[in-house]
Amino acid sequence: MRTNKQFADFVAKLSEKDDTFEISKRAFLCLAGTYRFGEVRIYYCVERPKYQEERVEHEVKFHLEIGAIDEKMTYVMERTTGEDGLMRFTVVGLKGARQWTDDEKADLEMMLTVYMWHIARYRLINLVEMSATTDYMTKLPNTNGFLDYAEQLDKTNTLVSFNSFYFNLKGFGLVNLKYGKPNADEILKKYTTKVKKFLLEDEMVARLGGDNFVALVHKERTREFLSFIEQVIVHIDINEHKQRVEIPAYTGVFEIGESLQDLGDIISQCSIALNTAKNITKKPYMFVTEEMNKKAIQDKEIRSHFKEALQNGEFKVYYQPKVETDEYRIVGAEALVRWVRDGEVISPGKFIPLIEADGSVCELDLYMLAQVCNDIRIWLSEGVEPVRTSVNMSRKHLANPDFPDQIIGMIDEFGIDHKYIEIELTETASDEEQGLLNTFMTKMREQGIKTAIDDFGTGVSSFAILRSFPVDVLKVDKSFIDSEFVGDNDAIVISNIVKMANELNLEVITEGVERWKQVIFLRQIGCKLIQGYLFDKPMPYADFTERLKMKKYDKKNIKDY
Ligand code: C2E
Ligand code: MG
Ligand code: MG
Repeated sequence: MRTNKQFADFVAKLSEKDDTFEISKRAFLCLAGTYRFGEVRIYYCVERPKYQEERVEHEVKFHLEIGAIDEKMTYVMERTTGEDGLMRFTVVGLKGARQWTDDEKADLEMMLTVYMWHIARYRLINLVEMSATTDYMTKLPNTNGFLDYAEQLDKTNTLVSFNSFYFNLKGFGLVNLKYGKPNADEILKKYTTKVKKFLLEDEMVARLGGDNFVALVHKERTREFLSFIEQVIVHIDINEHKQRVEIPAYTGVFEIGESLQDLGDIISQCSIALNTAKNITKKPYMFVTEEMNKKAIQDKEIRSHFKEALQNGEFKVYYQPKVETDEYRIVGAEALVRWVRDGEVISPGKFIPLIEADGSVCELDLYMLAQVCNDIRIWLSEGVEPVRTSVNMSRKHLANPDFPDQIIGMIDEFGIDHKYIEIELTETASDEEQGLLNTFMTKMREQGIKTAIDDFGTGVSSFAILRSFPVDVLKVDKSFIDSEFVGDNDAIVISNIVKMANELNLEVITEGVERWKQVIFLRQIGCKLIQGYLFDKPMPYADFTERLKMKKYDKKNIKDY
């Protein structure tokens, strides 16, 4: 090559950090004089790009303003790109200049090869930047894109004229099941198109992942947006049939104010309100309140203290007796966890759901099992006859293939008979979990460890479980007898559950029994096992040891709770 200096300049210019058009123009200028061209035209097309959905097509012209050009004097080159695309370069010569020699043409080819590398690199940088701020499927901004936009608004002091909305689609899992994933994706894309259409130019919606979205909408359009988002209707063709899909959502709203400290709050604050709407009030939308904030802080504290509390032995086993109603003997017990923190006893309803979300409940469950095994060993060594004691296990364990071995290993480590332990699990709606539950129960049965379905009757799969699961015990949920006295419909359902359980030779126990009236009714329908405040509330080890020694209740002393 005869023009080393110019080529070096050309490459150096392409590496500069600036607008690509300007860079390209300056780079071509380095060579234009020597090679007598006044314009470069580039056509770029990728039919099926790997990392983008739509076809890419660009055409640019760099007119170098160094003299008139001659349309008759052109040199055209084509190259295929890494993505099976096509790049066509046209170099247009200066008017009156002589034709390019073969050597010069070879140099031009070299220039364009280098230029193509530059474009490929530039495209890559763009894609990386875009994918860092964009959701691949819907092409909406993602969390980063959302925060970038909010930051821009904040800089111009306009963010306060917006409210932020965190919304989660109701039952989108079912849409996936009903229509299949590809159709559900299509539905989601149509959904986002509708949402975008509703928004004004300076409002925005982002997808945070899954069926979670966040939007910034002008304050005065809050009600309008909430009623729009409460139910969006999308039409989709499935097997040439038009389907109408209703997509309702839960929404949390945060009213952005001057006191906003951290931009991240515009997401986290409305997510607190969403959580309340979705899991507590079951209302289509909620505005975040001071009270919700307090609870969110408390919840966070619980989550962050859990590990340390487990190590410090702050979790205690409380035992609640299970009683048969012929002679009122204590025939079993349920181990229920209590968190004793600075003298305060915290009940599981306050922390189990929180530690269930991230799976740490599994550690707690195994810890409880170990404590129960240990207590049983002590009772045995002291000559107190223990009763079969059930331990609650979260369904989160089911996905762990080692779970049955963990239980068996633990019981054996304490050297106690398997007959003393029962495992309680709640029923499940998902087919996959039912399979796992079935496998688990089969393994327990092989080992002589009894299993129970807890809160029976509240789920959807109840009767299928009755027929096909290797389960030993049904615990009828207390909601059936919660009311003043058993309501008519509840009475019919519970009678049939008990009847079926008896016919299938399953043990059946009702929990939450507080009154004698309920005992009489339960005996009439054939349920003789009872757990409830009528006899005792869950109690610490020492009190329960006294109950074990007592062996049975004296009916005379038992009063309605
Ligand atoms: P569950 O397993 O259905 O336990 C029965 C709950 O009903 C217990 O609440 C018990 O104290 C309460 N109860 C019993 N008799 C009566 C009554 O007559 N009236 C009323 N109103 N309530 C009664 P607790 O101890 O607050 O436990 C709540 C739930 O927390 C349990 O429901 C169980 O799902 C979960 N849980 C407790 N301990 C553990 C544990 O170690 N691991 C796991 N994974 N979950 C646990
Ligand atoms: Mg239970
Ligand atoms: Mg229960």
